Amino acid sequence: MKIPLTDLYRQYQSIKSEIDAAIENVIRDSAFIKGSYVSSFEENFARTIGVSKALGLGNGTDALFIALKALGVKEGDEVITAANSFIASSEAISLCGAKPVFADCDDYYVIDPADLARKVTKATKAIIPVHLYGQSADMNEIMKIAKENGLKVVEDTAQAVLAEYKGKMCGSFGDCATFSFYPGKNLGAYGDGGALVSNNTDLYNWVVMFANHGRVDKYDHRFEGINSRLDGIQAAILDVKLKHLARWTEQRRQVAAWYNERLSDLNDIILPKEREGAKHVYHIFPIRTEAALRDKLLDYLKGEGIGALVHYPIALPNLTAYKYLGYKESDYPNASKYSKELISLPIFPELKEDEVDYVAEKIKAFFKSL
Ligand SMILES: *Cc1c(COP(=O)(O)O)cnc(C)c1O
Repeated sequence: MKIPLTDLYRQYQSIKSEIDAAIENVIRDSAFIKGSYVSSFEENFARTIGVSKALGLGNGTDALFIALKALGVKEGDEVITAANSFIASSEAISLCGAKPVFADCDDYYVIDPADLARKVTKATKAIIPVHLYGQSADMNEIMKIAKENGLKVVEDTAQAVLAEYKGKMCGSFGDCATFSFYPGKNLGAYGDGGALVSNNTDLYNWVVMFANHGRVDKYDHRFEGINSRLDGIQAAILDVKLKHLARWTEQRRQVAAWYNERLSDLNDIILPKEREGAKHVYHIFPIRTEAALRDKLLDYLKGEGIGALVHYPIALPNLTAYKYLGYKESDYPNASKYSKELISLPIFPELKEDEVDYVAEKIKAFFKSL
């Protein structure tokens, strides 16, 4: 059996006529940049997340950079983010000229509020909690730390669209939040795309201009900005997919439940935990095993046709890109340890129960063979 980590074509086939019609409409109307398809998606997306404003952007990395710019992050500032994330979370900080500071993660694989509090200095300007793998960071604690220290909060919600914490949507806690519509994300476009959401109208209005050359009208530029826009075809595709997202999210949760049922009696692995009060949307289904066995299990699964992967094999502060900052592995004991133990199993809404059976059987067979 061949089971990929994710299968975007299966999803396309299930909504082909809707998607094809949406793309055709955009082409018929030549609504390629900005326009009604983009604003329709922006309105629907803002309503879904429960915020007043959403703005489509070029991608999730731009969205983070633009968010920090909008909050006035600049040279001399420090911004704290999770030690275990994709590099975009920290790249955005450096792009503003600020210094990336990392806080370790807890065993829910999200930023540990206690370590976060320890990392706050006089230079700290903002926090970027990452709702990693589809699970909310501990937003009540994080907002408390932000308030006590006068810090801004940008939620990196790239992996957690529709995730909730204590009944509130991820992306609706901070000063603003960013999303990625990279094809493999839970709400994926057919190319690059991203968004920023906020309840702050002044911030939103500035971002609308900054992301579109600082202009208010054609050739009326009030300041220099950048070009980072969601295009009409992607917006039309995303608007179609947004209607299915709640169902797809439940299907992801069902796949996670199947894995949990089948693997819970296996002592060699640690299954992902859902925090009390958090609704996990399982962008990724991460399991952990002993570091000495991790790569062997990964190779074994690949040999059996299973598209398992590691998110992420090197914690951010340990990357060559951040060597100049002089951080040590021992400063991030959890993130460093987990990066050597984690394996992501295939998960996507269309994954079938017998495919989960197959993956679970192969994992069990591997540990039996030792
Ligand atoms: C995907 C991702 C991003 C960046 O999004 P792009 O659209 O690929 O630029 C940022 N943060 C996290 C946690 C991500 O997973």
